[in-house]
Amino acid sequence: MTAAFDTRAVRAGREDLADLGLHAVPLDLSTTYPSRDTRGEADRLDLMSTGERDAGLPVYARLGNPTVERFERALADLELSEAAVAFSSGMAALSACLLAVAAAGRPHVVAVRPLYGTTDHLLGSGLLGTSTTWADPSRIDAALRPDTGLVVLESPANPTLDERDIAAVAAQCGTVPLLVDNTFATPALQQPRRHGASIVLHSATKFLGGHGDVLGGVVACDEHVARSLRNIRFVTGGVLHPLSGYLLLRGLATLPLRMRAASTTAAELADRLASHPAVTRVLYPGRAAQRPADQMRTGGALVSFEVDGDPHAVLSRVRVITPAVSLGSVDTLIQSPVTLSHHIMDDDARASAGISDRLLRVSVGLEDVEDLWDDLVRALDPQSPVSAGNGGSGPPSHRE
Ligand SMILES: *Cc1c(COP(=O)(O)O)cnc(C)c1O
Repeated sequence: MTAAFDTRAVRAGREDLADLGLHAVPLDLSTTYPSRDTRGEADRLDLMSTGERDAGLPVYARLGNPTVERFERALADLELSEAAVAFSSGMAALSACLLAVAAAGRPHVVAVRPLYGTTDHLLGSGLLGTSTTWADPSRIDAALRPDTGLVVLESPANPTLDERDIAAVAAQCGTVPLLVDNTFATPALQQPRRHGASIVLHSATKFLGGHGDVLGGVVACDEHVARSLRNIRFVTGGVLHPLSGYLLLRGLATLPLRMRAASTTAAELADRLASHPAVTRVLYPGRAAQRPADQMRTGGALVSFEVDGDPHAVLSRVRVITPAVSLGSVDTLIQSPVTLSHHIMDDDARASAGISDRLLRVSVGLEDVEDLWDDLVRALDPQSPVSAGNGGSGPPSHRE
């Protein structure tokens, strides 16, 4: 019998610790390892540089690291996949996926907007040798070509929180792998492979780490895909630092609890914002008229809303919430997608993704709901004073 998700979240990647006589996860910072068989090393290197793994000792940190591999095993388990490959950031993870399809001679990608701004930019620019057709989620099949190597979508999507019916998209993909960026939901709320996705990507920087102090990315997939991603990671070098692997594994232990708590608060804030006179529109998965059934357990920890007036005036008045890009930390963050997370896109791309310049995106943390609500009410009131430090008065004098 497989253990329940919450149990696996605290145990996965740690199975051998008791045998090693350890309780906490060991952090291995080695860049290289002593060679036991100097002649045999060449064969091992040949094998490992194809992305294969053997049971021997590690060789060199760019090929693999034991602490990072613990995080990879744990994430693979939580995302119901054979393997996972960790990278130095979410964008490094996506880059490896694009390089893999381009190297395999299938450089055409079909993608559904909206997507995270830099993802949209990377796909739209063709910087890594891929080309992209933007498609409606109900018209994926019509956009596929013989050289299509990947279908890409986010659900809930950044920043409008549109939910996509993953199974309905997967059904149109045929043999083309469907990559779902699961950064916003996390496996605690949604497991895309249950619905037919074959590749699950995360910016681990967000909820997986969960404390705003790790930059990382990870791809959960079948072993044969993992092999090509490890090969690309070996030659391009976008590896996850072992300390980050350690912190991400630690983050996974509290992921289900954090997601449940933040989702409860986010749903409550979404309801209250919907009846606030200065808010013209609330975007929250639980509020959409039609939701894909049995896909996401709760509405998640993000709430987006459009304001009647200047969104920067709202940003200048928050005191409990931090005005900052990124998401998924223990504390609540708010930002304007047009100014930050989706700034890199051109105006037409943003318009076609439905991202308004009145939009604000809140990543709800673990504070008390009433403190957050009081802060939002104050920030939405044009009569309330601007917060100290939010007036664009320059950087603080002491930075560490
Ligand atoms: C932040 C983010 C990324 C990029 O991840 P980095 O870790 O910042 O490189 C990709 N997808 C989504 C949905 C994101 O929010």
